[in-house]
Amino acid sequence: MSIQLHSTDSSTDATDRRYPQLAMLIDGRWVETGGSGSRQVENPATLSILGNVPLADEQQLDAALAAAGRAFGTWRLVSPRDRAGVLHRAAALLRERTETIATAMTLENGKPLRESRDEVAFSADIIDFLAGEAQRSFGTSTIDGATRRVTLSVEPIGPVAAFTPWNYPLIVPARKIAAALAAGCTMVIKPDEETPASAVELARALVDAGLPAGVVNVVFGEPARVSAHLIASPVVRKVSFTGSTSVGKHIAALASAGAKRTMLELGGHAPVIVFDDVDPVAVAQQAIGSKFHNAGQSCGSPTRFYVHQGVHDEFVGALSEAASRLVVADGIDERAQMGPLANVRRLDAVRRLIVDAAGRNASVVTGGALDGIGHFWAPTVIANVDDDAQSMNEEPFGPIALTAPFTDTDEVIARANRLPYGLAAYVFTGSARTAALVPRALEVGMVGVNHFSLGGEDTFFGGVKESGYGSEGGAEAVHEYQIRKLIDEA
Ligand code: NAD
Repeated sequence: MSIQLHSTDSSTDATDRRYPQLAMLIDGRWVETGGSGSRQVENPATLSILGNVPLADEQQLDAALAAAGRAFGTWRLVSPRDRAGVLHRAAALLRERTETIATAMTLENGKPLRESRDEVAFSADIIDFLAGEAQRSFGTSTIDGATRRVTLSVEPIGPVAAFTPWNYPLIVPARKIAAALAAGCTMVIKPDEETPASAVELARALVDAGLPAGVVNVVFGEPARVSAHLIASPVVRKVSFTGSTSVGKHIAALASAGAKRTMLELGGHAPVIVFDDVDPVAVAQQAIGSKFHNAGQSCGSPTRFYVHQGVHDEFVGALSEAASRLVVADGIDERAQMGPLANVRRLDAVRRLIVDAAGRNASVVTGGALDGIGHFWAPTVIANVDDDAQSMNEEPFGPIALTAPFTDTDEVIARANRLPYGLAAYVFTGSARTAALVPRALEVGMVGVNHFSLGGEDTFFGGVKESGYGSEGGAEAVHEYQIRKLIDEA
């Protein structure tokens, strides 16, 4: 196996000093001291400590809630053009600060610098698009005879409680904040405590862009305690969560106690169906960039490769060969094509899933543990994995590609649909008929046909079944933060 694990000098103090000072943002003020103490932030590549994130106590959470409640009274009345102006300026600041933010993101999450730079660029594009939507959200008005006018007014739903994960520590907060602010809502957001700097830098850009105090409040803390407190508050009218399915269900249950609307973007286990009328080598080569992006820690990551029996082995050979050539290194090293896993929980989970698959006679063609410090794991391809394996049922969320052969289209659609997940799927075929029919039969929110992309900043993004509901992208993202009000005038 020729996995290249580059050692770098990135654990030097000089690199870690580029990690920003962490703070919460409450009512327009930066708060560096948490009432519930602090928590260390670890660099997953070197295991060095980057900084300390303050953890809010109940008084600080209440201060953030009160600020969001007060600010809603004025921000909702700010003209859509001026709301858009703040967001556009923040997007421009993110672009200007790309190197600073990307470095912080790589230090705390582990992803290669080039992926962090792309994440900053995409986040800025998302904010710009959603800012535009602030000016394109209209209600309707109908006139009934000479005396009666019925208006459907579109209004912001109110202050939002948002919770975001560690895998895309800038994109996910950017999606939620920009959509909510475009709609005229305010927010208390709790980004993940393991990757706090990216969201802090986004908040800094918004403040520097002129965002009024209290419109966005950033808090950290013990996740279960913070979510229970924020969601129970009468100030909060909407709950938005991205993360695991199990936590998402818990969040939805908390929100239902107050009949609060929720938006859930949860896990996935994306099937990839490769028919025998395409070049399996070309698909395998295309799959590499998507499968091992962010070390496989993406909700839309292609995970279950169902490949037609006639081309399965050729596909596995090409995928394994390309995977074994990836340069695995500290993300701060410009040569890195894949970094470490973001935390030790993923490393343990990946090891467990591989041991289980190997014990069921699947073949681990390439990949495995890597020596050295840091949460590194080599890009792994496991062939002929049966449907009972843990990895075929539980979201792998790591650098593991699972393959299994199929022979019949109906059979493979049933296997693709057999899990409770329904986020993304991919179909590769040379047949226009198959390309038209199979995506419609798949129980998912998004399907990539003959490529591994799932839209952009201007498109819907979301799942079905236990992958959640609502959209994090496109014009629909703004609608998530709006209510419709009927006004019937005589
Ligand atoms: P986890 O379920 O412990 O946590 C997921 C996220 O939810 C984290 O950001 C965490 O801080 C937060 N969280 C946990 N409990 C919470 C609570 N009670 N209230 C509010 N927030 C809470 O899982 P993990 O070990 O961090 O990640 C592993 C799994 O999470 C993966 O297998 C994957 O399914 C899922 N995940 C999905 C996404 C996504 O983009 N959909 C992102 C990250 C993780």
